[in-house]
Amino acid sequence: MGNSKMNAYPPALSPDLKKLYHNLEQHYLWINKELTAEGYKPDDLGYSRPPFISKKNNNPVEESFVSLKQISLPETIASSLFKEICHDFAQVLDKGDAEQLQIFSKKVSAGEISFAHLLEIYSGKKDLKVAKAHSLKEELFAQVMLFTLRPFISWIRDNIKGFTNFKESWQQNTCPLCGAIPELARLTPEQGKRLLFCWLCGTEWRFNRFTCLYCQENLAEGQSYFAVKDTPYRVDICDNCNHYLKVIDQRQIPEKQAGPLTWLENDLGTLHLDKLAEKEGYKRNY
Ligand SMILES: [Zn+2]
Ligand SMILES: [Zn+2]
Repeated sequence: MGNSKMNAYPPALSPDLKKLYHNLEQHYLWINKELTAEGYKPDDLGYSRPPFISKKNNNPVEESFVSLKQISLPETIASSLFKEICHDFAQVLDKGDAEQLQIFSKKVSAGEISFAHLLEIYSGKKDLKVAKAHSLKEELFAQVMLFTLRPFISWIRDNIKGFTNFKESWQQNTCPLCGAIPELARLTPEQGKRLLFCWLCGTEWRFNRFTCLYCQENLAEGQSYFAVKDTPYRVDICDNCNHYLKVIDQRQIPEKQAGPLTWLENDLGTLHLDKLAEKEGYKRNY
């Protein structure tokens, strides 16, 4: 971590990433406005039921508020967002990946690959094989789908009743809103409580700091982590399942820089931590 720019808080984004971040924010604002202006209701987007309890190995399991399997997005709006996101991502990717993504996006625009089908397989079975069939990295396909779904799920959250109360009692490692596994967390400025960020929809909720969120191993002395000197960033690592989680320790943020966290900016701005963790043999969940 010799590069002092890497240590900055808020993170120093490269001009390309800054542009990507800005564009994503603009697209998401547009989606928000569009859904509201068109008079959509959460039910129209597939929100059809109150939370319920299902059974897993005979034990009651609380289900997330929204079931991704039931999501039904307005296809015209969602497919144009998908196209924009592919275009924006292509600007920050390696040449080979960027080309594959652009080709894939063109096939979707031309109807050669059905966007409705992509949505269905991504949010339902999480089947990524379609990417491979078109020479696109599965991981990259998952990323662009996730960035496409994100504003719609957040919009549902902001337009349904009862979610705040529901979230308070939620104790699972998956997102109370959409059921996804989080990939970023923060320690609160006051008490250092660990709040997880949902990578898919941006919801945050509390989760025990002593428990690995991936394998649920509970360590009496807490999880191991490595911190980046002079920054509020640290990476929680689990030697049981070899997963890592990027964490922003807000207690370490100088007062004059404190303010609302922008999770996307923090994630994009800390890609060097992903590289570091991956080099050490830890993986992030995709
Ligand atoms: Zn979520
Ligand atoms: Zn673990």
